Parts: sequence; structure tokens; C-alpha cells
Amino acid sequence: MTEPVAAEVGRDFIRDIIQADLDQGKYQEIVTRFPPEPNGYLHIGHAKSIALNFGIAQEFPGRCHLRFDDTNPVKEEQEYIDSIQADVRWLGYDWGKNLFFASDYFDRLYEWAEQLIRDGLAYVDDQTQEEIRLSRGTLTEPGKNSPFRDRSVEENLDLFRRMKAGEFPNGARVLRAKIDMEAGNINLRDPVLYRILHAHHPRTGNAWCIYPSYDYAHGQSDAIEGITHSICTLEFEDHRPLYDWFIEKLPVPSKPHQYEFARLNLTYTLLSKRVLTQLVRDAHVAGWDDPRMPTIAGMRRRGVPPAALREFVKRIGVAKANSVVDVGMLEFCIREELNRTAQRRMAVLRPLKVVIENYPEGQTEELEAINHPDDPSVGTRKITFGRELYIEQDDFMENPPKKFFRLSPGNEVRLRYAYFVKCTGVIKNDKGEVVELRCTYDPATKGGNAPDGRKVKATMHWLAAATSKPAEIRIYNQLFSNPSPDASNFAADLNPNSLEILSDARIEACVAESNSTEPVQFERQGYFVRDKDSTPGKPVFSRTIGLRDTFAKEVAKG
Ligand code: ATP
Ligand code: MG
Repeated sequence: MTEPVAAEVGRDFIRDIIQADLDQGKYQEIVTRFPPEPNGYLHIGHAKSIALNFGIAQEFPGRCHLRFDDTNPVKEEQEYIDSIQADVRWLGYDWGKNLFFASDYFDRLYEWAEQLIRDGLAYVDDQTQEEIRLSRGTLTEPGKNSPFRDRSVEENLDLFRRMKAGEFPNGARVLRAKIDMEAGNINLRDPVLYRILHAHHPRTGNAWCIYPSYDYAHGQSDAIEGITHSICTLEFEDHRPLYDWFIEKLPVPSKPHQYEFARLNLTYTLLSKRVLTQLVRDAHVAGWDDPRMPTIAGMRRRGVPPAALREFVKRIGVAKANSVVDVGMLEFCIREELNRTAQRRMAVLRPLKVVIENYPEGQTEELEAINHPDDPSVGTRKITFGRELYIEQDDFMENPPKKFFRLSPGNEVRLRYAYFVKCTGVIKNDKGEVVELRCTYDPATKGGNAPDGRKVKATMHWLAAATSKPAEIRIYNQLFSNPSPDASNFAADLNPNSLEILSDARIEACVAESNSTEPVQFERQGYFVRDKDSTPGKPVFSRTIGLRDTFAKEVAKG
């Protein structure tokens, strides 16, 4: 299912750096890694990082590791570890045998922490979290040394070992690097290396009750794995001096370099795992794979092809300055890919019954429909025409405005692949709503062309009442109604109309009966995919994305 990924050499500043390093003979091979924390599902921002790290390993001689940054057992779960692997694979990338976990290095990280203590570069601090925070200073004020900063090596080693042995409760003590409380860069003001957390870890179980911080674990894990280019997002730029400090002070087996790029931001979208976790937890969405979620799992369920995501991240490129990408760009890439690959079918989302009065009762006929206008190799299929049909409610207007060329009393239109029909009567219910149309067809126009050369201005989709099948259709709109939703108060920006359910839709029988998870185009409506909520009697189809400006195009054609 996965297509080969096109080589994209020298497209951005990171690839330029790598090329220059190779030209200078610094490395025989390039080793990158994608380092997710298993505390949530991956989102499209991660797809950018995945495509960058795995893409580089495909384009240059090298490899890319998948490494779980599993240093915080409180928030991490096996479900996330599994979903992340499935999502990276689905995107089309392969780590081969290079699957790693930061927790695999807990022993070595611990030994190196003792080494820092012995070298006088780390100390156990008994201050509370709050005291540590308050004494750290600000951007304009230096921090203050901890009263525990000058403990002897022996005392520090003893306390650190007792921390590890589980003698102290959570939060009682931490291990800190001894760098400089007056450093201009706050990250260098004696950062925390280890904290006490009596928590079960998905992989190491109860073996540990102290866990390394991200800053302490990350660079050393890179060094252990021989990562050459450790690529991360811009918020870690200020952490780089600390990253380099550890690499310099510790006897690590290799010396990786950290490079930062701008994270992906999208309009109408929040890409923060904190927010996404809350959306799921507070049931604003139906789960991590809700088709409105910007997660990889959500997009997959929605029918977004992996090739469209790869194309999207290729188009947005990799830059050093933060920016916000228009979600329209993502939609463009999805449409383009689906237009190329999705077979065409017909569906009537909001059915209006039509009776063809001059078509013999009990008679049906098979007509030929093409499956893809630009790809004859996918062939044709038969569709059934009969006396009773459904058309789309909004393809009819009793009192149409001037530029409405679809069905209206007295007006003639083409039913796709079938005949010209003309509306001869309107049947209404007690409330005055149109519930059925009476039409006549012209048998001479079979296939959709009139031998006398007369023209119609609209071609409409339709389905036979007897042979089409009922379906539920789900139409998704942006999850947020604000183009730049507020992450700190996102509930206020949620779009109340992000999901519209059409429960009386009709679809072609071949679509209803197929279990394919490939999206199809319902002509004039958009791209749709079968959802996992389908039951044998009632298929559920989700709209991946709509077609652009169908009405405007039709008007223009007329
Ligand atoms: P969040 O900030 O949403 O909680 P995170 O950055 O903490 O996400 P990680 O699991 O640590 O999530 O991320 C794994 C990798 O993906 C990191 O290298 C991170 O820089 C990168 N990444 C995360 N979000 C984005 C984004 N929006 N654009 C590009 N890369 C991203
Ligand atoms: Mg992170």
C-alpha cells in the first residue's frame, strides 16, 4: 500500500548542513531519529518531523531510529506506543530493526549521573519544587544557589543511591546538574536531572522510582545510538547549550549535534498533545481517531491518503522561522491525491423522490457508468435506472432564481449516464414541503445526449429507489470555528457544527456492499470513506473532503 517516497535532496537548511557534513567527510552515514513521547497519539505536526527524519535517512546514506522518549511513566501508556508505531508505518516509513526506548538506557544514564556527582557536576537538592522554581530567577534576574549545592561528593552519592533505592517519597529530593545559577540561559541554572516518582513504567515496571528528565535523557540517548543529526523543534534551541554540556562532560560513545526547525502550525487547528488529550478525555470528540482530530489516526479514519500527507509536508518545507500554514493547503493536497486515485460512484445525501411518469412500471435497465474519468484501466460498472429515483433535495427549486439551471418545474436536465428528464409536477405534504416530483424522460436521449442536438444546462446525479441502499453520511467541518484557536481556552473556540449526520442518505449498492476502506468520490459531493461504525444493514460513510465550488462550476458551465 505504501508508495516509495521521492528523494528530495538539498531542499532545506537541514539537508544542506547534512550534505556539507558528508562532503567534508565528517560521517560515513547519517543517523537521525524520531523521538516521540508515548503520552498521546501522533498528529500532523509529528508527520512533518517523521517525514524529515525518515526522509533524510532515505535520501542520504543512513538510517532513522524510532525512539520512544519514555521517561515520564505517569503520562505514558502502551496504547500510545502501539498507535505511534502503526501511524509511522501507515505514513510509509520503516525503522527496520532500529526501534529503541530511552528506558533501555536507564542503567547507563544512572551510571553517568553518579559520574557527574563524582566529578562535582551534580548534587542532590532537598528543596521543594516550589523553592527550586522560586530560586531559579527570571530572564532579567539571576537565580540563587541552593543551600544544598555544596554537599560533599560522598553525601550526594549516598543520597542519590537512597533516592534510587526508594527511601524517599515523591518530590522529596531531586538530582541537579551543578552548572551556573547566574547563567543568562535559564536552562543552565542547575537543571533537574532526576526526580523521584514512585510509578509503574510500561516497560521497566517497578524497577525504578527515579526517572531522568527529558534534557538529561535525550542527548545521551542520541549519543548511545550514534545519532549524527538530532533534529528537533525550535522550542529546544535554548536547550542546546545544555545538550552540548552533557555531551562534553560525559564519556558518551558519540557526539551528536542538535538542529532546530520550525514546528508546524495550522489554521483552525491545535497541535498540542495537552489539548488533544483533553478533547478526548472531556468527550468533545469520539476518541483519538475521531475524523475531526488532527491526529494521524483521525486522518486515516477520515480517508486521508498517506501520500497526501507526505505531499503536504513536502510542500510546506522546513524552515527556521515559525509560521502558520493555511489548512486549505492540506485540503488541497488531499483533494489532489483523491482526485487521482478515488473511483467515482453516486450517492444522494438528502434524497428527494422522483417518479418518471412515462417510464413503464416494473421495468428497469442497466446503464454503464465510468469508474474514473482519467483512468480507463479501472473500467466501468452498471447502474440501474427505473421509474422511481432519488435526486438531491437541493438540485430542485420550485421557484428558482435566474442562474439556477438544475431541476425546476418545466425545466429539462440530464441525469448522469441516463436520460434527459423534465419536471412536470410537484407533490407537497401538509406543511407545504416538496416530498416528491413527477417527471417525464425522453427515451431518445439514452446515454445523456439528444439526437436533435438540444442542450441542457445541468447534469445531476441520481439513484434508483429500488436498487440503491440506505446509508448514514457524516459530514465533518473544522473542529474549531476560530482560525487561530486559543489553546488555553479551546473549548470556547470549538465549532458547534463540526459534525453533521445525514441518516437517510442513499448510496450505490456496490458501495454499500463493499468492505473497501479506499475512499470513493461521490460525484458532485466529495470524497467519502467507509467508517468503522458501519453495520451490515447500515453502512456509515465519512466525508474525507468536499469538492470545491460545485455550484459555481455548474453555473459557469451553463
Ligand atoms: P506537544 O508539544 O504537542 O505535546 P511534543 O513535541 O511534546 O508534542 P513529542 O512526542 O515530544 O511531542 O514529539 C516528538 C517529535 O515531534 C519531537 O521531535 C517534536 O519536536 C516533533 N514535533 C512535535 N510537534 C511538532 C509540530 N507541530 N511540528 C513539527 N514537529 C513536531
Ligand atoms: Mg516533547
